[in-house]
Amino acid sequence: MRRFEGMVVAITGAASGIGEATARRFAAEGAILALCDLSEDALAQMVTRTGIAESARTLRAVDVSDIDAISSFIDDAAQSLGRLDVLVNNAGIGCFGHVDEITAEQWRRTMAVDLDAVFFGSRAALPYLRTAGGCIVNTASISGLFADPGLAAYNVAKAGVVNLTRNMAVDHAGEGIRVNCICPGGVGTAMLKSHLRDAAIMEDYERLVPMGRVGTADEMAAGIAFLASSDASYITGTTLTIDGGVTAQ
Ligand code: NAD
Repeated sequence: MRRFEGMVVAITGAASGIGEATARRFAAEGAILALCDLSEDALAQMVTRTGIAESARTLRAVDVSDIDAISSFIDDAAQSLGRLDVLVNNAGIGCFGHVDEITAEQWRRTMAVDLDAVFFGSRAALPYLRTAGGCIVNTASISGLFADPGLAAYNVAKAGVVNLTRNMAVDHAGEGIRVNCICPGGVGTAMLKSHLRDAAIMEDYERLVPMGRVGTADEMAAGIAFLASSDASYITGTTLTIDGGVTAQ
């Protein structure tokens, strides 16, 4: 399947995990990629390692919490590649702790990276998406759907992403722009491994999952690609939960 032949797809947080898998998936389906992450070297190594260097035309070191940096990444990518069809707001960080345990700095950093960047990145992309009849897919989390214990700031930021997705879907549907998000459960990336540090804690988590395992980054990328594709042409404002059944319990 090459559903994105010649389309330009921008992905944030693309150097590892779900972002990397999403870049590989879109490249395999014919897309031209603009990728950003904190380190350009990490992006360069990723595209070489995964064999997608030819599709990845823009690699940029961007801290997505920097409004000017995320905006100019989108502008430069759309202008140099001639269009923008899909924006995947995927970069994110975890933040563990109760309300009285996290610092003001941790709270603000989580909001800036996990929520504000989705707002400002989407805002920068809108003019190009209007022209292309394009779409946005956000990586939210099941932590945005309920009170995931010990994740106060992360829960709030991801709940914000879920509702920003709905808001933008409604406000921009008339312009031909679709906006959706995926809500992953636990996915076996660096982020989850830093949270569930040893094998025993990981096994405890997996026992809570009806399907008995964490998800893979490729399974998340498949959901993102579906929402971005014409197969989802009548889907906007939705949250696609990809969690092995965790939130169905
Ligand atoms: P990951 O740590 O492998 O990847 C996150 C990427 O984002 C990294 O490459 C990192 O360098 C980049 N990044 C972090 N802060 C950034 C910043 N300020 N500017 C630019 N890039 C930045 O983790 P992942 O699991 O692939 O996470 C991807 C997304 O999935 C995140 O939004 C995360 O919240 C979400 N998510 C992950 C899980 C999980 O269990 N892994 C579950 C639900 C949602």
